[in-house]
Amino acid sequence: MIRINEHYRKLQASYLFSDIAKRVAAFQSDNPDTEVIKLGIGDVTRALPPACIDAFHKAVAEMADDATFRGYGPEQGYPFLREAIAEHDFRKRGADIAPEDIFISDGAKCDTGNIQEIFATDIRIAIPDPVYPVYLDTNVMAGRTGEFTDGRYAGLIYLDSTRENGFVPDLPSDPVDLIYLCFPNNPTGATISRSELQQWVDYARDHRSLILFDAAYEIFIQDNTLPRSIYEVNGAKEVAIEFRSFSKTAGFTGTRCAYTVVPLECTAYTAGGDPVSVRDLWHRRHATKFNGVSYPVQRAAAAVYSAAGQAQVMERVTYYLANAEHIRSEMEALEYACVGGENSPYIWIDSRTDSWSFFDMLLNAAGVVCTPGAGFGRCGQGYIRISAFNNAENVREAMARIRNALS
Ligand code: PLP
Repeated sequence: MIRINEHYRKLQASYLFSDIAKRVAAFQSDNPDTEVIKLGIGDVTRALPPACIDAFHKAVAEMADDATFRGYGPEQGYPFLREAIAEHDFRKRGADIAPEDIFISDGAKCDTGNIQEIFATDIRIAIPDPVYPVYLDTNVMAGRTGEFTDGRYAGLIYLDSTRENGFVPDLPSDPVDLIYLCFPNNPTGATISRSELQQWVDYARDHRSLILFDAAYEIFIQDNTLPRSIYEVNGAKEVAIEFRSFSKTAGFTGTRCAYTVVPLECTAYTAGGDPVSVRDLWHRRHATKFNGVSYPVQRAAAAVYSAAGQAQVMERVTYYLANAEHIRSEMEALEYACVGGENSPYIWIDSRTDSWSFFDMLLNAAGVVCTPGAGFGRCGQGYIRISAFNNAENVREAMARIRNALS
């Protein structure tokens, strides 16, 4: 008899986006003349930068000719892309990362989801609340949690991100082995300072634990005192893996390209306490289960680092951040406390009421869709997330409607 992985039965159905869709559909059928504006999504709306499109076209043309055609590429990614990443994203900022430490993939979602399988099942795991749900669900699937009761899985250490701690979790009071951190954060938009990140790295070194640092939104950092990479912090290479993505950086959500950095020095331990290279383990896993990102996509991603690509990417970032600034200043003018939106595309707003009630109110009174914070974890209750990924006209119209409805 074929049997299932029983741990899947512990997973909570993700009602968040289907509930949103149901409520929007009901509103739309009652109000067919209102154009609903969606500020709930975490997907970009601007087209790929022209520099990426040019490189994409050229690479497709190469694939059309026997003389330049490419079959399977290196599983870890083509050297031209890994070298460009090491140089531009790390060495230029003083972080000594080698091309050999970089693994190209088709998404930070897959990488943040898959990485846990190279670690033991009985380790202690710390996960932020509110959270990007992939970290949580992949550990549930792997059997690292107990049942779900009162909004939380037994066996995990939750790192509360609240107004009191500035949405940067405190160090855990009990020792943990694997720590998930995400900055700039989804969903809160909060950032972490260099000294706060140093405390986490020091903690990991003291406890021989490992930090999984998700920097998918790094491009939005405007404040140059903030770290863009965990490797800008002393001692991080031994105790941290970093995830990056071209999705939000350059509009690759539908094109798919990302990368994970596992430095040579990064160490985990056998049951007997002997050190093992995490990079070797991840390399083994990657080469066994992944066959590389397509050549044209890697060429398109490498074009991000050309002078034209950099200018075009920054133009898009500025565009989304102008939306974010508008959303935040409008909500603050209405006296709602906000975090994010300055170094991130998300604004996390204290609704002063229940998340879903505020969601319903914005939908019914303004025809605007946001994301209820309660869908990201217990600490998200009472908050909503508004995303700056939309066109500027829609954002202006949405905020004018919200101002009307709330004032
Ligand atoms: N990490 C975070 C925090 C995200 O919010 C997202 C997407 O929304 C991802 C990773 C996924 O990125 P990718 O498109 O590279 O899979």
